[in-house]
Order: sequence, then C-alpha cells, then structure tokens
Amino acid sequence: MALLKLHNVTRRFGDFTAVDNVSLSVEAGEFFTLLGPSGCGKTTLLRMVAGFDKPDSGQILLDGQDIANTAPEKRPIHTVFQSYALFPHMTVADNVAFPLKMSKVAATEIKKRVTNALEQVQLAKFSRRFPHELSGGQKQRVAFARGLINRPRLLLMDEPLGALDAKLRESMQRELITLQKEVGITFIFVTHSQDEALALSQRIAVMNLGRIEQIGDPSTIYGTPANRFIADFIGKINLIEAQVQQISDTEMTVAMGKLGSTVLPLKKDIKIGSQGAIALRPEQIQVHALSERAKIPHAHMGKVRDFLYVGDVTTYVIELESGIQIEALLANSSPGRARFFEVDDPVIISWPRAAAQFLVDE
Ligand code: ATP
Repeated sequence: MALLKLHNVTRRFGDFTAVDNVSLSVEAGEFFTLLGPSGCGKTTLLRMVAGFDKPDSGQILLDGQDIANTAPEKRPIHTVFQSYALFPHMTVADNVAFPLKMSKVAATEIKKRVTNALEQVQLAKFSRRFPHELSGGQKQRVAFARGLINRPRLLLMDEPLGALDAKLRESMQRELITLQKEVGITFIFVTHSQDEALALSQRIAVMNLGRIEQIGDPSTIYGTPANRFIADFIGKINLIEAQVQQISDTEMTVAMGKLGSTVLPLKKDIKIGSQGAIALRPEQIQVHALSERAKIPHAHMGKVRDFLYVGDVTTYVIELESGIQIEALLANSSPGRARFFEVDDPVIISWPRAAAQFLVDE
C-alpha cells in the first residue's frame, strides 16, 4: 500500500485555484519530487500534507487513514524549509534535540540519538556551535538532522537547497541521496529546478497551474515528456510545429512544414489533422560539415548563427534554410578544442528518426 495518497485535492484562495484536483500516491521509502515553475502550487500542496493548511475538497491519506483532522505536530511528518528555521539561541545539538525534548524522550536516549544524527550528517564536531557560526550548507544539514531525529514516516522538504551556491548544492544533493538510502525514510522534495529534480528523485510529479501534468521516473519525464509544457520546462528542447498527415495501423506520417515529413510510431488518440510539435533534444541533433552532405540521409541545410561555449559542451544555434532555428549541443571531447563550427559556417543537420517525438496539442 502507498504510504501517502492524495485524492482529488483542491485548494482555492478566493476565486483562484492554487491546487486543482490533484491525485497522486507516494510509496514508502521513495524519494518523490514535486517540480514546477514558481506559483504552480507546490508549496500549497506540501503545506496541506504537513497539516499547516487544509484542502477545500479531497482527501489526504497516510497509511490509508484520512489525516484531515490530525494536527501538524501529531502527524508523523516533518518539514525542512529553505530558510533552515533553526533556533538562533540554541546550539547545534540543542536544535537537533528539540523535537525529542518536545516528545519527552529520556535525556540519555536524546544524547545517543543526537550524536548519531549529527554523525549521519557529518556534523559531530559542530555540536556546540551556534547557527551563526555555521555555513549555509552546515545549517541545512542541522535542519536535516533535526528533521530526521524523530524518525518521521515522511520528510517534506521545500526548496531546501535553494539558498546554497551551485557547487555546494551539488554536493548536498549527493549527500541527500545517501542519507535517504541510509535512513530509509520517505522524502517529498519540492523544487523549481529541473536539474535538481532529475538528479535526486526516484519519481517526479511535474506541476503547472495547480495541476499535475505528468508523473514518472526522471528518464521518462526527460525522455518522453507528455506535452509541450513538460518538454520545454525540463531541459532544453527544439519544438517544430507539425501536423499529422496520414495514419496506418502502427505508424503516422507527420508533416513539419518546410522541413518535409517524418514517419513515427503511432501514438494513441492521434487523428489525421492533429496539430502539435516534433520535439528534439539539442543533444539528439547531429551537425555535419557541408562536405558530408552526400553521406547524410534526411539532411537539412543551415547556417551557424550563434554558439555558446561552456567548457565541456558547446550549444550551436543553427538557422535552417526554411528559417526555423534549431539548437544543437555538441560535446567538446578533444582537449583544447573549443568548437567545431564558427558563426556563418554552412552546416547540415540531421537526427536519428527514433529521437523525434510528436507532442499533440490538447
Ligand atoms: P514557489 O516555487 O514560488 O514557492 P509554489 O509552486 O510553491 O511557488 P505556491 O506557494 O503553492 O506556489 O502558490 C501557488 C499560488 O497560490 C500562487 O499564485 C500564490 O500566490 C497563491 N497563494 C498561495 N498561498 C496563498 C494565500 N495564503 N492566499 C492567497 N494566495 C495564495
């Protein structure tokens, strides 16, 4: 049975619907992420699970029990916030011990568990420090230790790494994955960073305008986004306007305007005339010099308009003869080679047929 189940949960503020009929379930031991742009309702949803807010309609079940009338402090759930929410006048050890003191756990047991929790987050040496004597990453680790000390069934995290710089964020991401495996507690993580969601999660729910758009593991969400919003929100993508021209039992022919047509496996609910876009990730685009033209089937001619070199990879903006702009990402694998093409170089692009996906408009 799922640990947490949401059934048609809705929350309105006046006539604005912040969370719109959301249903999902989270398995015990899972690292589950709510991902979406600012204002899509992630925090509102999390606050309802924590008990700080109530749905206008729908049910929240923990272990099959409706927790609507259970006060936040009575739920076996803890929330970690981006702002850490540490008590400034308490030492690290006292901050971590706080939930146990509230639960009237015996002093010897508290000491043992605090020592253990601080070891888990590699802060054993810092137990006597105060929050202002810690770095952002260390404060966040104290907040995690405090969140885990009462062994909640569910640890909710609202943008917990949002205040950290890029490098520290990455190392904290790795630590979080290790920590979650060690403690075996179910994590629900909220972020608007697609990279973070892909790196951390076992499953991701992508939210937009209060609704869940897709739930899946990271490679499904990235590799087969359900619609244009998800395709565009998760990583970079080329979207070429397209229309279904013909359908057979197993395949469909999709016309891409001046780029000709392509044959793809048939998807359900597609009709002749269905409008949408062909989606291609920049790393799926192959770029060749003009001299290779004879060797490339389904080639499209274009010109390099711009490029962005970021060390390991270069992104090229290529304008095709049809006027369509395509982004292609090439790895700079040979040392010292900053780029393969210059602005205004004529090039040919192609892509493996299986890389293209048709995203139908609703
Ligand atoms: P962010 O990533 O910026 O934190 P979010 O996805 O977590 O965004 P929410 O904080 O859940 O978004 O807010 C969703 C929407 O509901 C926003 O438009 C917000 O302004 C609105 N909202 C949230 N809380 C309230 C409230 N108490 N009263 C009125 N509107 C609210």
